[in-house]
Amino acid sequence: MGNSLQIATHKLGPRDITDCLDLWVDRMADGYQDPFLLRNCAAYTPGYCGRIAEHTGTFTGFAAGHIGTLASELSIPYNWVADQVNLDSTATIAYADIACVKPVFEHRGIGTELLRELTTQLYKHDGVDVIVAEVWEHTAPTAARILEAHDYEQQYYSDTYWEYATQVGHEPCPACGSTPCDCAGSLYTHDRRH
Ligand SMILES: [Zn+2]
Repeated sequence: MGNSLQIATHKLGPRDITDCLDLWVDRMADGYQDPFLLRNCAAYTPGYCGRIAEHTGTFTGFAAGHIGTLASELSIPYNWVADQVNLDSTATIAYADIACVKPVFEHRGIGTELLRELTTQLYKHDGVDVIVAEVWEHTAPTAARILEAHDYEQQYYSDTYWEYATQVGHEPCPACGSTPCDCAGSLYTHDRRH
C-alpha cells in the first residue's frame, strides 16, 4: 500500500463518459463494457449512480451501480444462491457494477473511497437494504480486499462463475481466453440490516 492521495470526487456526468469507457477497456479489454450504464449515470436517470475520482483535476477512476431486482441482476441463476443471500428473487437490490482505478493511481485508497461513496449513494434509494457485487477472479485480490474493508461478505464462490452468463455473444475472455469464460468468481453482498 502506498500513501493515500488527495482526491476529489463528484457525480459521473456527460463529460466523464469517454474517460470511464477508455479506462474500462484498458482494465478489462474491449467488449466487456456497459455504455448503457454509463449513459444512464451521466443523465442522472433515477436508479443509476456514478462517481468520479480526480487528483488535481486529473481523472483517476470511477465507480457505478444501479437499482434492480435480485434474480435479474445476478450473472448466475438465483437458485444457486437462494439460501446464501436470504432474499426473494424479486427483492429490490442495488448492484455495484464496476469500480476502476487508473493503474498509475492504484493502491492509493481511491478504489476504497469510490466504493464507500457508491455504497452510500446506492442506499439512498427507497427500499434498498442489500447491495450485490460480483467479483471476477482476475481482479479478485484487490476487489475482495476493498469490498471486505467495507463489510461486504462473500456469499458464494465458483471456479466457473461466469460460464453461465457468457455462453452466447461474448468475445473470448481477456483473462482466460475462452468463450464461455472459464474464470472463477464470487458473489458478495452488503446488508445494512446486519
Ligand atoms: Zn475468463
